[in-house]
Amino acid sequence: MIVKTQHNGREYSIDLDSGIDLSIPNRFNGNLPVFYGASSPSIKPVEFGEFIGDVNQGGSCNVKIASVNIHCTGTHSECIGHINDSGIFITDVCPKGFIDTCLVTIKPIPAIDSTEKYHSPFGSHDLVITQDLISEKLNGNFKEGLVIRTIPNSENKKFLNYDKNPAPFLTHDAVDFILEMGVQHLLVDLPSIDKADDGGQLGNHHRFFKKGKTISELLYIPESVKDGDGLLQIQIPNWGLDAAPSRPIFYSL
Ligand SMILES: [Zn+2]
Repeated sequence: MIVKTQHNGREYSIDLDSGIDLSIPNRFNGNLPVFYGASSPSIKPVEFGEFIGDVNQGGSCNVKIASVNIHCTGTHSECIGHINDSGIFITDVCPKGFIDTCLVTIKPIPAIDSTEKYHSPFGSHDLVITQDLISEKLNGNFKEGLVIRTIPNSENKKFLNYDKNPAPFLTHDAVDFILEMGVQHLLVDLPSIDKADDGGQLGNHHRFFKKGKTISELLYIPESVKDGDGLLQIQIPNWGLDAAPSRPIFYSL
């Protein structure tokens, strides 16, 4: 289906079949990223009386029970309910429709080379995404949604163990800046916008959720998608939780 839309005073046609999936596929085969020692998502068939929910074991249909650590094993979107007792669900704040979005690629720099701030001391191997890097790339072109792809963009992001391979994170300045620029939905191909061992403070999450609505983490952004403006739809199940597995679909303009 082709839809026409106005964007920055220009008219665009979007083929709704042309969306690029920015999520990491979960095939329940153990081949997924892992963070904080999480067990990989698993499934087992329902058993009820004589019935087994697995056609390969003689059942009449497949009925599987899934167990998923949403935050630590794959693409997910979260809201302020992740860090407080507000009881706000991801479904309360994640838009059903399209989000005006910009996608940028950023090469994180050694934290010790940056003068920007963070609430936990920088380690000698830490890499950060700074306000400077974001500002340079976007040059004032901010949208409601911001997708950050980090370099190197190797395929191993789909199954990296982040406990053994600590990921870059954002500085406070970077978070404050994108909020000032009006970003409401932040999406990253990192396991967190915070340093993994920040003492459980989640400082950047607290900063972002003062004004921002959703953070999506552990994306994989294929090389085939170019940097630039687009429309984004964050697909989530209708679950009453702080976070849900998600499937961000990006339509380049
Ligand atoms: Zn999370």
